[in-house]
Formats: sequence, C-alpha cells, structure tokens
Amino acid sequence: MHATQTARHFRVGLTGGIGSGKSTVATAFSELGIAIVDADIVARAVVAPGSDALAQISGHFGEHVLSADGQLDRARLREIVFADSTAKNWLNQLLHPRIRQQMLAQLDSAASPYSILVAPLLLENQLNLLVDVVLVVDVSPETQLSRTMQRDNNSAGLVQSIMAAQCSRAERLAAADYVIDNEAPPAMLAGEVAKLHRVFLQLAEEKLAKSLT
Ligand code: ADP
Repeated sequence: MHATQTARHFRVGLTGGIGSGKSTVATAFSELGIAIVDADIVARAVVAPGSDALAQISGHFGEHVLSADGQLDRARLREIVFADSTAKNWLNQLLHPRIRQQMLAQLDSAASPYSILVAPLLLENQLNLLVDVVLVVDVSPETQLSRTMQRDNNSAGLVQSIMAAQCSRAERLAAADYVIDNEAPPAMLAGEVAKLHRVFLQLAEEKLAKSLT
C-alpha cells in the first residue's frame, strides 16, 4: 500500500515498459466498467490552449514555444529545458502540482468502485505515491521490443533507446504489488484481469469501510 491520502476511493496504478500491454490491460478493466485515467492525456490537457499553465509557459519562455495553431510545441520546449536545469525546475514546479491535482480529481470522481491510473512512467515520476497499489504488466524485453516495433513501425534502435530511458524490469517488479504476465496470447488476459478485479473490488470496499469509521 502506498497512498497516504485519506480519500475513500481506491486507486490502482497501472504501469509497465513500452509495449508491455498497459493499454491492452486498461481496456480489459474498462470493459468491466472501471474508470481509467491516462497520465499522458492529463499531462497534455493541463497545457491545452486556453490553460493558465500554457499562458505562464509562453509568458516565461516566449511565444516561440507555441506552434502556429496555439498549441504547446513540446519538442521546442524540450530543447529549451534539456540543457537548462533552472528552466526545467521552473517548468516542473508549474506542471507537476497541476498534473497531480487533475489526476486525483479524475480518479476520485469516477463512478466506478475503484479507478486506475495508467502511466508509463508511474515509478520514474513517483506517481506511485498517489495510488493504493501498483499493478505491473510484465513481459520480457525481447517481447517489448518486437511488439512495439510491430505496433509503431519503429526501428529496433529507437525502441531500445526508449526502453533504456525507462526503469528496468527488475526495478518495476520490485515496486509491484500485483503483476500481470502478458507473454501469453491476449485471450489469456481476460481471466487474469477478472481475478484482479475481484481483489481490487474487495480492497476498495475495505478502504471505503475504513474511511467511514
Ligand atoms: P503499452 O500500452 O504498454 O505500450 P500495448 O497495450 O499497446 O502496450 O501493447 C503493445 C502491442 O502489443 C500492441 O500492438 C498490442 O496489441 C500487442 N499486445 C498486447 N498484449 C499482447 C499479447 N498478450 N499478445 C500479443 N500481442 C499483444
């Protein structure tokens, strides 16, 4: 258990390396009626055109961090902060609280008995502190590589460099409360997900009961 929050709503953090099957597993839970919050979507939404964060970013770095249609030019911003730790810290201090607050709001307003935060960088960005349990989707690095190359039509080199920037399989497994082995064909997932769903429903009920006493 990780969450120190007093919220009643039970939160599961779902993570795994690129191509491990996070989206596939998340879809299986959503088919059971469980609300899914995608960390990447939240991170983009907080800097959407019209947001106060985007106004602050363009005020700080200049209009050239905006693309012609008024969106944040992420590649440009990455270039700027890459070599400038002061700029990077400024940006993180602006964005991280907003991202966290949005994630928690979405997770805890969900109508389902528990909700799932899907985050490729759950551990790297310490988002595991926001959830009650961590569920890791696990496959071998070879499987990650071949499934991602097939899905994205990317070179082995590019996928390997993304994998190298993420935490290792061992680090992820060490942080896991629950693990889904996704080496088997996708048809095998439904049973695994249904089993975990029953466990999470039970834990969610216990958390709710505790919060009411
Ligand atoms: P992630 O969200 O972790 O990057 P995805 O869920 O997109 O991973 O899965 C990566 C690719 O592998 C996708 O094309 C997906 O359809 C495929 N895939 C997922 N699970 C399996 C499986 N058990 N067997 C074969 N292919 C799978």
